[in-house]
Amino acid sequence: MIKELEITLPPEEINKTTCIEKEVAREIRVPLEKINTVEVLKRSIDARKQNVKFRLKVRAYTHESHIKEEYVKKNYQYVKDKDAVIIVGAGPAGIFAAMRLLELGLKPIIIDRGKDVHERKTDIALINRSHIVNPDSNYCYGEGGAGTYSDGKLYTRSTKRGDVGYVLSTFVEHGATKDILIDAHPHIGTDRLPMIMYMMRQTILEHGGEFYFESRITDFIIKNKTIKGVIDHKGTKFEGIAVILATGHSARDVYDIFFKNKLLVEAKPFAMGVRVEHPQKLIDSIQYHRPSRGEFLPAATYQLVTQVEDRGVFSFCMCPGGVIVPSATDVEQVVVNGMSNSKRNSDYANSGIVVSVELQDLAKYSEHGAKAGLIFQQEIEKAAYNAGEAGRYAPAQRLTDFVSNKASANLSKCSYNPGVIAADLNEILPKGISQRLHKAFTIFGEKMKGYYTSEANVLGVESRTSSPVKLPRDPENMQHLQVKNLYPCGEGAGYAGGIVSSALDGINCAEKIAMTVKGV
Ligand SMILES: Cc1cc2nc3c(=O)[nH]c(=O)nc-3n(C[C@H](O)[C@H](O)[C@H](O)COP(=O)(O)OP(=O)(O)OC[C@H]3O[C@@H](n4cnc5c(N)ncnc54)[C@H](O)[C@@H]3O)c2cc1C
Repeated sequence: MIKELEITLPPEEINKTTCIEKEVAREIRVPLEKINTVEVLKRSIDARKQNVKFRLKVRAYTHESHIKEEYVKKNYQYVKDKDAVIIVGAGPAGIFAAMRLLELGLKPIIIDRGKDVHERKTDIALINRSHIVNPDSNYCYGEGGAGTYSDGKLYTRSTKRGDVGYVLSTFVEHGATKDILIDAHPHIGTDRLPMIMYMMRQTILEHGGEFYFESRITDFIIKNKTIKGVIDHKGTKFEGIAVILATGHSARDVYDIFFKNKLLVEAKPFAMGVRVEHPQKLIDSIQYHRPSRGEFLPAATYQLVTQVEDRGVFSFCMCPGGVIVPSATDVEQVVVNGMSNSKRNSDYANSGIVVSVELQDLAKYSEHGAKAGLIFQQEIEKAAYNAGEAGRYAPAQRLTDFVSNKASANLSKCSYNPGVIAADLNEILPKGISQRLHKAFTIFGEKMKGYYTSEANVLGVESRTSSPVKLPRDPENMQHLQVKNLYPCGEGAGYAGGIVSSALDGINCAEKIAMTVKGV
C-alpha cells in the first residue's frame, strides 16, 4: 500500500525517523513493522496554538520496496560552438537563464560589472569596515547578484510563472541542502550561497558557456530596431543572437541607457519604508507563546500586512536570526536590507516594513516622467546618507520614539555592522510614508503583543523593495516593445521580485529565445 497523509509531531520528534514512522503507523492503523519507508513531501510549522507542532505531508510505503527518488538531474549540453546568447547580469535571473540555455543547446555569455564571489568578499568587508562602497562590487553587484549576500529565502507567490521545483532542485544540484525541497519556507542562508554560485559557474563553464566579470555594460548595439549585442565600459563588444538584460533594480545607469537611446521605460508602483529590528527572543516568545523557543524550534518568523489610508503597509524580507546589512550600490546613499546565515542563529530578528508608493504619490516629481520613482528613491537615500554622517552610519531610532515623533536619546543594541546613529527618521521619510508607518506599527503591536516596543530600533532606509520602473516587453515573445531580440528580464525589468521569481523569469526568457531561434 502507498498512502499519502498528513501527520503532526512535536518539535523534539521532527528529526527522528522512528517517531515519524510510529505516527504514520498509528494514523493508518497498521503495525509499525509493516511500514517500509516514509517519504516526507512537505514540512511546515504550525504555531497558531500554544502547542507548537510540525506538520508533515508524507507518503508511506507498507509493502512496496521504495527506492527514494532523487531530484531530476538536468541534461546540460556542451554548447561551446553553438549560437551565443548575451546575458547581462549574473544574478538569479541571468544565471538561471544561462542554466536553461545549456539544456536548450544555446551558449550563454554572461557579463557582470561586479567581481566573482571570491573577490567580491573583499569589497563587502570594506563596506562594513570602512564604509566604502565600490559602485561595481557590493552587496548587490557581482557574481550571483543581489541573491548571493541575500537571506536566501526561496519562497515565492509566483508559482504560476513556472516550475519552482526546477529552481530548487538546481540549487540542490549545486550544493544546497535537500531540506529546501520539502520545507514550506525554504531557506539557504548567506554563508552557503557563495559556494552554490561558484558551483553553478563551474557547470556553465564546463559546458562551454563564458563569464566576463568586471565588465560594466554602457550601451547597446542596435541595428534596424534589432539588438546585436552590448558594449562595456572598456569598449569591448559582445555580440549574440539575443540579449537577456538582467541587471537588477539598483542599476540606475542601465535605465539611463534606455533614456539615452529614447527607448520605452514605464514608471511603476513600488514600496519604501524602514527596517525594524527586535531581539529574536522577543519574536520567538510572541510567535511560539512561550518564554524561549528551546532546542528544537527554529528562530521564529512573522508576516504582517495592513492597510492605512488607501496604501498597503507590509513586512518585507523578514530575516529571523539575521542581521541588517548596508546594501547601497553607489556613493552618497544609505540603503538597508537584511540577511541571515543558514542556522539563523543571531540574536536579532529584522524585517523591512514598507508602504506602497503609487504613481500619484510622485506628483512632485512628475517633470522627471518615467524617472520620477528613481529620483524619489535617490533623494531619500541621500537624506539617509546625510543623517548618517556621510554614510558612516545608518540613521536609527527606537521604534516607539519614531512613532511618537521624538528623538531617541540612545538606541537598542543593533546588528548593523557599520554602526548606527540616533536620528529622526521622520525627517528623512516623506510624511505620506512615515505617518502610515506610525499607524501600521501600532496596528502590528495589537496583532503581535509585545511587537510595538522601545526595545526595537528602526533603521533607514528600506528603499529597494522592487523596481520603480518597468522595461515594457511584449507579453507573447518577452522582447522589449521597441527592440527585437532584447529580453528585459528579472527584477530590474519590473517582472519579478525575489530570487525564485527572478530565476523563473530568466528561465522563461531562455525558453522564448530557444523557441524563436530553434523552434524548441
Ligand atoms: C541583502 C538582501 C537580501 C535579500 N534577501 C532575499 C531573500 O531572502 N529572498 C529573496 O527571494 N530575495 C531576496 N533579496 C532580493 C533578491 O536578491 C533579488 O530579488 C534578486 O537577486 C533579483 O535577481 P536579478 O537577477 O533580477 O537581479 P540581481 O540579483 O540584482 O542581479 C543583477 C546583476 O546585474 C549586474 N549588473 C548591473 N548593472 C550592470 C551593468 N551595467 N553591466 C553588467 N552587469 C550589471 C549586477 O552586478 C548584478 O550582479 C535580497 C536582496 C538583498 C540585497
